[in-house]
Amino acid sequence: MGDINVKQNLEAILSSINKEAEKARRNPKDIKLVAVSKFHSEQSVIAALEAGQTLFGENRIQEAAAKFDKVREKYTEADLHIIGSLQRNKVKEAVRIATCIESVDRLELIKEIEKQCAKINKQIDILLEMHTGEESKAGFVNEEEMKKALAYCAEGNTPHIIPQGFMTMAPFTENEKSIRKSFIVLRQTAESLKKYFPQMDLNELSMGMSADYKTAISEGSTIVRIGTAIFGQRDYSFKS
Ligand SMILES: *Cc1c(COP(=O)(O)O)cnc(C)c1O
Repeated sequence: MGDINVKQNLEAILSSINKEAEKARRNPKDIKLVAVSKFHSEQSVIAALEAGQTLFGENRIQEAAAKFDKVREKYTEADLHIIGSLQRNKVKEAVRIATCIESVDRLELIKEIEKQCAKINKQIDILLEMHTGEESKAGFVNEEEMKKALAYCAEGNTPHIIPQGFMTMAPFTENEKSIRKSFIVLRQTAESLKKYFPQMDLNELSMGMSADYKTAISEGSTIVRIGTAIFGQRDYSFKS
């Protein structure tokens, strides 16, 4: 851990994102970086904040709450997205600590997010996670289910929720073709769903991690979620 230079890694990633954006003839400003700090310490998060990174991603609610409650005592700008599968009983805490839940994978979760946000009078962004090929079962399995979820929001049932777009995880493979295919499926599904809900701004495509963000950017990603390439290997014995 001691030899990981978070600031240097961040600079390298940001410049690489710029380069990939240019290659794809895209504006680098249209690509946000979520620094995924799961299994990394509060000190790692602070190192990133000191280097100017304000947006973070976590997937375990208890760990995230402990870490970010502490970090925010000093760094009020620390912004957090939840990116991991979310159990119903964790939603209350999740909406307290995050500004976006990227991993919304079922309508039931939307209902619970609305309920908990209403209680604390907070609006929150969500992305719908789509299962496009990774081994885990997370995510909506098809466009039809996502359409139902968005329709529920469009019908005015969720005044505290702002759907912003879509998220996916590519399969864990070296095969670039199948990774790319997964990103294309998300983009095409998004394009199709946007036609049904013109009143919504469903422009975010959260796709791309340390190993595949370049491919993701070439396929239109607007949010890349990068952990290892910034913070180093995760320490799975980490306890907050
Ligand atoms: C852990 C995680 C990431 C970051 O993965 P790296 O390979 O470390 O960049 C991105 N997205 C999700 C959903 C994750 O769980």
